[in-house]
Amino acid sequence: SIMPATLSAISKGARQGILFKGGVHLEHLSHLRAVAFDKTGTLTKGEPEVTDFLTDEREMKATVLSVVSSIENESNHPLAQAIVRYAEKSATPLPPVEDVKDHSGKGVCGYFKGEEWKIGKADLVGKEAAASFMNNYGERLASDGKTVIFVSRDKEVIGLFALKDTVRKEAKMAISALKEHGIYTVMLTGDNPTTAKAIAREAGIDNYIAECMPDQKQQEIKNMKQHFTHVGMVGDGINDAPALAEADVGIAMGEGTDVALETADIVLMKNDLPKIEEAIQVSKKMNQVIK
Ligand code: ADP
Ligand code: MG
Repeated sequence: SIMPATLSAISKGARQGILFKGGVHLEHLSHLRAVAFDKTGTLTKGEPEVTDFLTDEREMKATVLSVVSSIENESNHPLAQAIVRYAEKSATPLPPVEDVKDHSGKGVCGYFKGEEWKIGKADLVGKEAAASFMNNYGERLASDGKTVIFVSRDKEVIGLFALKDTVRKEAKMAISALKEHGIYTVMLTGDNPTTAKAIAREAGIDNYIAECMPDQKQQEIKNMKQHFTHVGMVGDGINDAPALAEADVGIAMGEGTDVALETADIVLMKNDLPKIEEAIQVSKKMNQVIK
């Protein structure tokens, strides 16, 4: 049976917009030593916008944009949707493309007039092929915290897009509050290291793991558990679910995907990151009452 102090802490949490799925999570919360955060949709709003579009194919700029947006139109990744919206602004036509394939955590490929187009990170289009674009433009864009994605046509890199997502304004405050409890904070992202570093700095987070493939997040939590007695994970996406389950305390953003909400131990209503520290305070008070 559930103890009165636990019950009262759970209802206090609910009034503050924190949903605890059981008393045991309150107990674990007070012992957290490290917390990992997903980047997109958790630390950032998850609504990227295209800020730059560059291509060598000057006379073909409109064609490049239309082929890219036709291919991205078949992906439901937030970056893909942002590119489609950007193309819509210039009333770009969507020519027919074939064999579109999503490569989770890397990008998307498809065929146009018999040529293979790839849109995504350097890894996907080929690191060497992307190098001159990366050196000339990519590094500078990434160090502004923008996500850089490349476009290749039959293995030749012909352009890039930069997209900027906004760091939630309360993220910095939420993280500094955790640091005051002596909690180590880490960001997990599939983005490149330069972009990751800029976003981590903006959010004031202790460390980051970049180029983290969606299925690697769980392993990163496992590794953290070897160094810290209690590890938390905060996320919103389908990809975050295994990591949320692996963590001692899984915390989902209230407007996250159903799978994240179902898997998590705690749900933050209204995506409100500072509630994490409030939840820790509720749990510490509860433990004082019980002891
Ligand atoms: P995050 O960890 O930021 O949520 P993902 O793991 O979903 O990102 O993707 C990692 C990277 O793969 C993105 O930063 C982007 O470079 C590339 N990528 C993934 N999906 C797409 C797509 N549909 N179009 C272009 N690039 C993509
Ligand atoms: Mg996310």
